[in-house]
Formats: sequence, structure tokens, C-alpha cells
Amino acid sequence: MSQQFAVFGTPISHSLSPQIHAAFAGQAGIDLHYVAIEAGPADFAATLQAFADAGGVGANVTLPLKQLAAELASSLDDRAKCMGVANTLVRKAGGWHADNTDGIGLVRDLTDRHRLDLRGRRTLLIGAGGGARGIAPALLDAGIGALFIVNRTPEHADTLADLLGQPGRVHSRYLGDVEALGEFELIINATSANRGGTLAPLPRSLVGRRSVAVDLSYGEAAIPFMAWARATGCHDAIDGLGMLVEQAAESFKLWHGVRPDTNAVFAALSGHAAALVTAD
Ligand code: NDP
Repeated sequence: MSQQFAVFGTPISHSLSPQIHAAFAGQAGIDLHYVAIEAGPADFAATLQAFADAGGVGANVTLPLKQLAAELASSLDDRAKCMGVANTLVRKAGGWHADNTDGIGLVRDLTDRHRLDLRGRRTLLIGAGGGARGIAPALLDAGIGALFIVNRTPEHADTLADLLGQPGRVHSRYLGDVEALGEFELIINATSANRGGTLAPLPRSLVGRRSVAVDLSYGEAAIPFMAWARATGCHDAIDGLGMLVEQAAESFKLWHGVRPDTNAVFAALSGHAAALVTAD
């Protein structure tokens, strides 16, 4: 029987993870079955247990379950432990082992695929949820300069800044006061605002000559922020598709011990994403 894997979250029907892992498995000649399973905070523990009972050996976890995944795990890698959020679960004898590949996924996409030098970049992180928590430590490790965090609920930005524990380098500020913060060389939208809501318009004053705008979302959800980035003259506008493929490759490596070639999968999905965006 093929090995059982799944991605859990809600909403999950749009997830490209089953397609990505099927492509990686094809490359590696591994027989696996990877499905998307709808689960919210109330039923995640039971759904994950049922998956394990049915032979599930590995899982990805997406919004809004990343914190819960870390809490349910019986052991955690440092990458999941430091921020209390996990996107990857590996079945071990004693239960689930939690890890987080979001940070390395984003940094690989920005530095390897887009050839960005992150060092010293004054960075604005908009959002303080599971995705933001996953990427912030990796960005700091990659050498960005000062990191300013703004969020709709200011307390969540404060908590993230406190968790990062670098008061001279990491600052939380009110989203409403963002105009006073000056220019940024890296501007990251890590909100889920375009899933049913909208992100309030951001001021042009954030953008300078070298600014790169990154949205963790991709496809339709990324359109407004990518449009803002182009309209305000950002040097580059990068959506979250590359990060999605890279974080998946890191999860795949944790489960199977081999890191797949991501470029072919990214290229195929880029065409797919463009088709989705232009579809009625
Ligand atoms: P969470 O639910 O954990 O956090 C959502 C964040 O968005 C919070 O900071 C929340 O603020 C903020 N938010 C929600 N609605 C609004 C709004 N209308 N205006 C302003 N802020 C808002 O989600 P995740 O962090 O897990 O995911 C965030 C996004 O990043 C999603 O689109 C997700 O798909 C994407 N992502 C992509 C990845 C990839 O591989 N490409 C990996 C991880 C995430 P508040 O604290 O006030 O609730």
C-alpha cells in the first residue's frame, strides 16, 4: 500500500499541495498518496488522530491550524518550537514530531530563485499569524536589517516581536501608523486579508528605489498586493507560489530523505496559477 500523507486546514479545497507532492513523488519514484483534508480548530485533533489510525505518516498544516499543530505534537524541532507554530508533522513511534519549513521555503525562493540579497534589508512584515511567525526567524537568520511588524490586532504583533527576542532589531508598530515608518527594502504581506476581506490601502511612502514586495499568498488572493506593488513602483513583486513549492520540498525531504528539484514543478504551477487567475 502507498504511504499516506495529507494537508489539513480550512478552506483547503484550493490547496496545490497534493499536486506538488505528487509531482515530487513522481521525480523520486516514491509511491505515495497525498490528499487535502478539511479541518478547523474544533475538529483538527480528532481528524489528525483518525488520519494516523488509518496509517497516515506525514502531514502539512495550513491556516488556521499551525499553532494547534505545534501544541498537539509530542516533540518539536527548534524551528517549530521557537515560534510555537508548525506546518509539517512527521509520524514517530511516540506521536507526531512537528517542524516548520515556511521560513526556509521563503528564504530559498527569494535568494535562490529570485537572486535577492536579503542582507541588511530594512523589512516591513504585515501580519502576525502562523505564516508570519514561521518566516520571521528565518528572515532574521538570513541577515535582514531592522524588522518592523504591523498587524490588524496590535497585540499579536507585540507577541511576535517579543517571541523573536531581539529588541534592538525587531519592532512592533501600529498598522495605522505605518505611514510614519519611512521606506522599506522588503515589504511582506503575510495577512490572509484577501480571503474574504481586504487589506487597508498601504501608503506609497513605504516604497523606495530597491523595494521588493512579497505576498505569501498566490493566485487571485495575491492580485491586490501585487497590483499595489507595481503601481507604487516596487523594484520587484513576488507572490507566494515559489515559497509554497520550496516549503513543500523541505517537508518532502523530512519525510523521504531526498530534496526534489523544485524548478520544474514551479514552472508547471506558474502556468496553472496564471490560468486560474484569468479563469472566470
Ligand atoms: P493566520 O490565520 O494565522 O493569520 C492571518 C493574519 O492575517 C493575521 O495577522 C490577521 O490579523 C491578518 N488578517 C486577516 N484578515 C485581515 C484583514 N482584513 N486586514 C488586515 N489583516 C488581516 O494565517 P497564516 O499566517 O497562516 O496565513 C496568512 C497568509 O499567508 C494566507 O494567505 C496563507 O495562505 C499565506 N501563506 C502562504 C504560504 C506559502 O507557502 N506561500 C505559507 C504560509 C502562509 P489578526 O492577528 O488581527 O487576526
